[in-house]
Amino acid sequence: MTNFLPLVEKFHSLQGEGFHTGKSAFFIRLAGCNVGCSWCDTKHSWDKEKYPLIPIKKIINEIKRARLKGASFLVITGGEPLQHNLDNFCEAINIETSKEKQNPIKIHIETSGVSKISGNFDWITLSPKRHLLPKNYFLENCNELKIIINDQKDIDFAIDIKEEIVSKYQKSSSKLNFNKLDKKYYLQPAWKNEQGFSLTVDFIKNNPEWNLSLQTHKYLNIK
Ligand code: SF4
Repeated sequence: MTNFLPLVEKFHSLQGEGFHTGKSAFFIRLAGCNVGCSWCDTKHSWDKEKYPLIPIKKIINEIKRARLKGASFLVITGGEPLQHNLDNFCEAINIETSKEKQNPIKIHIETSGVSKISGNFDWITLSPKRHLLPKNYFLENCNELKIIINDQKDIDFAIDIKEEIVSKYQKSSSKLNFNKLDKKYYLQPAWKNEQGFSLTVDFIKNNPEWNLSLQTHKYLNIK
């Protein structure tokens, strides 16, 4: 069981991307990622040895403080946060934030889906990568699919991944086990990539089941 996690940073801000854009959230960025995306904007988080191991109790105290100040959910991001076993962490968050007749704080995770699932989440954002495909669990159980668009190959990849999700659902013998077909589909142009922006806008205009996700926190110059 993991009782310590390597923490890059923690901050209370607004969710900048995807379905929950604009909502007050507390972010925990865990260190460690070996997915190796060339356009990654958090390369500083890749090497987990560079960051201190923080007791999860201490992190949870920060979560409780942020909740008191208005954070309506927690976002666990990275790096690739599921390179750590999060069973213990999620369980402790649920227990510690459900005292005093409160419901436990909602836990969201942002993952590329390449690692084994651990922990329990109220919202899974799957951001799969062309060069390292996600595990089936995430295709079946993500709440939103968010594909970063740099070029036409990313659009093709988005189409393929969505088709895979739908075909898995159609083949599933027990639809009840196939969680959340009611998924949200997002394309997010890579930051300052003009080609990515125009490809994304053109594609969504003709494919309205897809939605635009922008890194609004970067436009606002906030965390
Ligand atoms: S998975 Fe995320 S953190 Fe890891 S390299 Fe890719 S974009 Fe960066």
